[in-house]
Amino acid sequence: MAYKSVNPYTNETLNEYENATSNEIEAALQTATDLAQSWETVSISERATVLHAVASQLRDEKQAMAETMTREMGKLIGESEDEVDSCASIADYFADHAEEFMQPTEIETKDAKATVLKQAFGPILACEPWNFPLYQVMRIFAPNFMVGNPVILKHASIVPGSARKISQIVDDAGAPEGSLINLFLDYDQIADMIADPRIAGVALTGSERGGKSVAKAAGENLKKSTLELGGNDAFVVLEDVDRELLYKVAPAARLANSGQTCTASKRFIVPDALYDDFMDALIVSFSEMKMGDPLDRTTTLAPMSSEHGKEKLQKQVDEAIANGAEVVYGNESVQAEGQFFMPTILTDITPENPIFDQELFGPVAQVFRVHSEKEAIQLANNSQYGLGSVVMSSDLKHAEEVASQIKAGMTFVNHGWTSLPELPFGGIRNSGYGRELSKQGLMTFVNEHLIYIAENKE
Ligand code: NAP
Repeated sequence: MAYKSVNPYTNETLNEYENATSNEIEAALQTATDLAQSWETVSISERATVLHAVASQLRDEKQAMAETMTREMGKLIGESEDEVDSCASIADYFADHAEEFMQPTEIETKDAKATVLKQAFGPILACEPWNFPLYQVMRIFAPNFMVGNPVILKHASIVPGSARKISQIVDDAGAPEGSLINLFLDYDQIADMIADPRIAGVALTGSERGGKSVAKAAGENLKKSTLELGGNDAFVVLEDVDRELLYKVAPAARLANSGQTCTASKRFIVPDALYDDFMDALIVSFSEMKMGDPLDRTTTLAPMSSEHGKEKLQKQVDEAIANGAEVVYGNESVQAEGQFFMPTILTDITPENPIFDQELFGPVAQVFRVHSEKEAIQLANNSQYGLGSVVMSSDLKHAEEVASQIKAGMTFVNHGWTSLPELPFGGIRNSGYGRELSKQGLMTFVNEHLIYIAENKE
């Protein structure tokens, strides 16, 4: 069966699930459509009360939700708990702000009254990845619930237990049937659903491969889509950086979630004058990571999410080395049952190296030495991707100027990647299009309906 929970720390199969039947798919589409229709007469404030209840339910079930995620994709239990807290905040944020975001806006125009109403779009299909099993779903569910768009969820095939738990939490909080419907779908079933006239839009977070396929189906069916894809995020160090802060931020920016974060810093771009010190500090931090049971709170580096993910990363690292990359630290096999990948630091990666612009989705850092700020910015921008990025400097004005020259959807100054409900999240180039979270994210699947009332009598 395609949908399978396997604990990447023990390799134990926890559960397997059948794909959805055509009857289940039909029932889901109809339930979502009926709900969307019935929501047309339900006030936003009524949904806000329910979404606050979802936030409370998440807090009540924090431990169970967190343990489900940790057992299924291996992340540290503390990271899972933080994810639940952050998702409860996302739910509260949209419950508190959607009414304001959905207010009609007036447009000044000649001899007429023009108003833009904010109306629901219809049922949305959400294809989500495993790396943040709850957060990825909440990013799309919370705003669309408030807009009045039911969400049909196709979660990653390695986190079916998390998918079920999330939909159970939403149901138990009192959300009407159809608000979030979890279906175990294969790719053909997804294409068919996108083609179904009852689906109004599709959102995918994941790889370029998945993104291209879903965007193609959406295009063929003239459906609106958003894509939140991968990245090769640069971490640009400027010479006047606060070194203490640098040595704290850099390893976490790469290794959190075992390196499996879309906005994790992957390419560390360091001025010549700081390079040796930076490398020494990074080696120390990487060597201090303690691999182990992700449920044990003393573990600091979790296993990767799956055997497949680990094998793919190893293949990329091998290819990098075969093409001239140097291993400064790591890349040794780990004597443990789980899917552990030793934290690794690579240098000497030339633009000719096939991995120069590939996303390394795991605990592998690439470090580059540069001789000027201009060279640093050019290197940062030499990528097919444009998701996140980091600039480290003690001159904040200057850091902001450098940040504005980086071609990416997000740049964080003196901070590793972060995500908050009020901040737009998304990228450019092969990192996708559209934004999630914030007012912008909520507006993605909203019909901005113009009403033009002529005041002159022709
Ligand atoms: P993935 O293989 O593209 O999977 C993402 C989701 O899309 C899964 O539910 C997957 O289902 C589904 N999918 C994949 N191919 C599909 C197709 N041809 N048709 C329909 N659905 C398809 O991505 P992943 O490797 O699991 O996730 C890691 C990637 O996500 C990384 O590149 C990471 O950077 C990116 N990511 C981006 C963001 C962001 O906000 N920009 C956030 C997190 C992760 P199956 O599991 O059944 O294959």
